[in-house]
Amino acid sequence: MDRIVFLGTGGSRRVMARQILSTGGFILEMNDTMMSIDPGPGAIVRAAQEEINVDYLDGVLISHRHLDHCGDANVMTEAMTCGGYWKKGVVFAPGQAIYEDSVILKYLWDYVGKVQVIEEGKAYRCGNVDFETSMAHMHGEAETYGFIFRGEDYKLAYMSDTRYFEELSKFYSSDICIFSTVLVEPGRAYHLSLPDIEKLVEVIKPSTAILTHFGMYVLDLGVDNAADRIRQATGINTIAAKDGMSLNLRELL
Ligand SMILES: [Zn+2]
Repeated sequence: MDRIVFLGTGGSRRVMARQILSTGGFILEMNDTMMSIDPGPGAIVRAAQEEINVDYLDGVLISHRHLDHCGDANVMTEAMTCGGYWKKGVVFAPGQAIYEDSVILKYLWDYVGKVQVIEEGKAYRCGNVDFETSMAHMHGEAETYGFIFRGEDYKLAYMSDTRYFEELSKFYSSDICIFSTVLVEPGRAYHLSLPDIEKLVEVIKPSTAILTHFGMYVLDLGVDNAADRIRQATGINTIAAKDGMSLNLRELL
């Protein structure tokens, strides 16, 4: 079964620091391949709570070096290799998160099958899953990419942190699209807001839009209210992810 399990739905500094929501990113199981995507702080704890067998991980994917996206990348990587016992799996991360500021401790580089630097607009493979990286996102100083994963007959997109820009909707054409939803209103921060996501959903027209990586303002509004806004404005099925939520991807098509 292709599924996604949200190990955490929190984003931004305040939500992460206080763990108002967990910040473990999500597990993607597709084509019998298991990946940990943006494992922020709490990923390993939440994975254990959700009874995810991390021995079966095939990859750890990091969209950028900010801690809410990679705080638990080391422990997930070590878990993937059973403490170095099995030399397997691939860590994918932007060059900045590998060479400038290695978010993966050097001793782990020998444990994994490969550390793969990702670049914009390229194709990669993790286990049985082909995926593509987006153009460079506009996310301040952080080199940031999102991903499109190719299921058997559908595409799942994950739009990580970015400021809105028009070209996003072209790359992120997909059947299921996951949005990092930090802001309610457009602000100076390099993050998407609800009106930005509304514009993107209107153009992308996925079967299902999923909101996650919530900032404080979205929490104050209520994550289900945020999803309602997008649904009412666009007519597209929109789900607010919850910590520990597991979704069968085929049911969202
Ligand atoms: Zn960020």
